[in-house]
Amino acid sequence: MTKKPTCSCGYDRDHFMVTAEADFSTWGWFWNLFGVTAHPYRLRFICRQCSEVIEVIEDREEIRKYH
Ligand SMILES: [Zn+2]
Repeated sequence: MTKKPTCSCGYDRDHFMVTAEADFSTWGWFWNLFGVTAHPYRLRFICRQCSEVIEVIEDREEIRKYH
């Protein structure tokens, strides 16, 4: 079993102190303006305590689980 990536505090991406920030493509922003929910092309998991980026995911299926 592979160990999940963590920040300096030891939190992984499922921890409640960790926020997922979505990056949208230009088209994603465009659709969001019109109230259409576009899926982000990238998610960054950031620790709210130390502001470290724990993990970046670009896999569509993975993003769907978190978005
Ligand atoms: Zn941290």
